[in-house]
Amino acid sequence: MRYQFKFRPYQRRFGRTLTTNHGNWDIREGIILRLTDETLRVGWGEIAPISWFGSETLEQALDFCRQLPEEITDNTIFSIPDDLPTCQFGFESACEWGSGKWGVGSKGDKENNFLTPNSSLLPYSGLLPAGEAALNQWETLWQQGYRTFKWKIGVDAIAHELEIFELMIHTLPASTKLRLDANGGLTYEEANLWLWTCDNLKANGELPLEIEFIEQPLPIEQFQGMLELSMSYETAIALDESVATLGQLAACYQQGWRGIFVIKPGIVGSPSRLRKFCHQHEIDAVFSSVFETAIARLAALQLAAELSRNNRAVGFGIDHFFEQEETWLQSLCKEL
Ligand code: MG
Repeated sequence: MRYQFKFRPYQRRFGRTLTTNHGNWDIREGIILRLTDETLRVGWGEIAPISWFGSETLEQALDFCRQLPEEITDNTIFSIPDDLPTCQFGFESACEWGSGKWGVGSKGDKENNFLTPNSSLLPYSGLLPAGEAALNQWETLWQQGYRTFKWKIGVDAIAHELEIFELMIHTLPASTKLRLDANGGLTYEEANLWLWTCDNLKANGELPLEIEFIEQPLPIEQFQGMLELSMSYETAIALDESVATLGQLAACYQQGWRGIFVIKPGIVGSPSRLRKFCHQHEIDAVFSSVFETAIARLAALQLAAELSRNNRAVGFGIDHFFEQEETWLQSLCKEL
C-alpha cells in the first residue's frame, strides 16, 4: 500500500505543572501525522516522545519525518529503526487507523470522529497530585468515576510521605485501589521500607484498601534489586521506566521478571511487535499514557483493550491535567 504522508509538530501546555521524580514538566510537544492511502482512506497518527523516559527526542523524530518523501509505503513504515520507537508507534497506528478496523477513519472521512469521548470499557486510573495535595484531590476524581488512583512517591522525604500515606489509606474509600509510583526514586532501603509497610499493614488487618503495586521503586540500573524485592514481599512491584521500549521489555522478561509490566504504547515501539510479545508470553501488563493527545490515546487504548489481563485499570486518567484539548487538535488536523 502507498500513502500520502503529511505531518505537523504541536505544543500544548499542561493545565498545571506535572511533578515527578524526573523533575517538572510544563509543555508537551509532539507530531501529528496523516496518512492517506490509495483509496483515500485517512489514518491519523501521533508521535509523542519522552526522551528522558527512553524514547528518541522530538528533534530526532522530526528529522525522521522531514527526510521522508511525500509518498511512503508499508515497507517504509515497517522498517523504521528501533531507536525511533515513537515513530514506529505513530506510523503503524496511523496505518491501522486508516484500515478502518477500529471503526474510525472511514473512507474519505475528513471529519475527525476520534474527538468523541472514549468509550473504552477498561477502568481508568486517576493520577493524584504529589504530596499532601492528593488528600484534597481524590474526591473530585472519585466523583468522576475513578476507583484506582496513582500517587507519586519518592518526591519528598520518606518519613513525610509515609505520614501522608497513613492518612491517605484511612481517607480513601475501602473499594479504592492505590498504586504508588516512585519513578525509580527510592534507595534499596527506602523501597524495602515501603514494601514492608504495605505488607505489614495488610498482615495486621490495618490496610482498609488495596495497594495494587509499587511502581518502579529503584532506578533502571538496579534491576536485580527489584527482582529480589519482588520475591521477598507480597506487595506487587511493577516495572515502568525499566521497560520503556520493546527491547527493554524483552530483556527484563528474559532476566526473569514475572511481576507487572507498565507499558506506554506511545513510546514502547511497534504495535504489531508488542502484540506478538504480549500474546507469546502472556505478561501481566498495565497500560499507561505518555500525555498524548486524543489521537495516540485512541491507538493506545485499542492496544490496552486487546492486551490487558486481570482487569487492571489503564493509566489514562489524565484529562484534568489539560484544558481544552479538543478544539486546537481539530484545527490542527483540518490544516493538515
Ligand atoms: Mg510510572
